[in-house]
Amino acid sequence: GPGNADATGSRILVFVRLRPMSRKEKEAGSKSCVKILNKKDVDLTDLASENDYLRLKRGRGHHHFCFDASFPDSTTQAEVYSTSTADLVEGVLQGRNGTVFCYGATGAGKTYTMLGTMENPGVMVLAIKDLFSKVRQRSYDGSHSIQLSYLEVYNETVRDLLSPGRPLLLREDKQGIVAAGLTQYRAYSTDEVMKLLQQGNQNRTTEPTRMNETSSRSHAILQVVVEYRYLDGANIVARVGKLSLIDLAGSERALATDQRTQRSLEGANINRSLLALSSCINALVEGKRHIPYRNSKLTQLLKDSLGGACNTVMIANISPSNLSFGETQNTLHWADRAKEI
Ligand code: ADP
Ligand code: MG
Repeated sequence: GPGNADATGSRILVFVRLRPMSRKEKEAGSKSCVKILNKKDVDLTDLASENDYLRLKRGRGHHHFCFDASFPDSTTQAEVYSTSTADLVEGVLQGRNGTVFCYGATGAGKTYTMLGTMENPGVMVLAIKDLFSKVRQRSYDGSHSIQLSYLEVYNETVRDLLSPGRPLLLREDKQGIVAAGLTQYRAYSTDEVMKLLQQGNQNRTTEPTRMNETSSRSHAILQVVVEYRYLDGANIVARVGKLSLIDLAGSERALATDQRTQRSLEGANINRSLLALSSCINALVEGKRHIPYRNSKLTQLLKDSLGGACNTVMIANISPSNLSFGETQNTLHWADRAKEI
């Protein structure tokens, strides 16, 4: 539990973000089955069993969860950023790695939370903006550099989203596990970054059947490395911190098991990365010494950014609609488990 947190240990902060009801959901006649109270508590009601008075009386149709914070559908991008990620950005400037995940079913609001729109930029853009302004405010004798990389893990294949081309191989070097040849973009201002990330997001793999939609099987990972070099006596010292921001694949596919078609093969591989992430989180929850990072591309890439001395944040995205009740329940259970670390 939270008792594990100490100066050097890790602790996952878990947040839930409820998105507004979409027009499509309204038109389908859906009702809201999620209530957020006190900015922390989430009440989920199975409306399908609402007529069943006895079941409800026994509490069967009701589920209650409590998180570090829960964001109602009116929450702005800036509020989500400042509550969930601003402290991690401060940590990165101190040389401490930080990781933010968005987890949830397809359509639940992960990409909106991470990338956002031109009018309402999300956590990725706000984090970089904040980094720039904090770096500018600091009047050290040293110099800062900020480098970005943006990649996709799809079907256990790693691709550079800033410079699409052949799949990249992972290799281990003194910095840890890196994707060989991945573009490291030296960023000088926030203005260029939103465009860059929007373009990168367009390079994410799409379903053959839905050319304009990002595949629900694709994980997008933005890594921002901040290096601070300063003179200590006669030596140049470098302090490096890394922020990883991850728009995970849709969690509804995690349990797909049929291996006969290409589609289900892809499902199985997503299964691998999401399951591997779950296994790592479980191992961290249980305080195990061995964390099974090697089981997937996603977890290999995050080896130095999960557990240990890192700050980790999980944002679970959910829809309010009763039509998504099952997915919402799964997402909240998973998030509830992650909170134990
Ligand atoms: P996901 O990435 O989880 O599949 P998206 O982020 O693409 O889901 O969200 C699905 C739709 O809902 C998009 O049209 C998005 O703009 C909209 N949306 C999601 N979250 C919000 C929000 N908090 N406020 C307004 N619109 C949202
Ligand atoms: Mg998305």
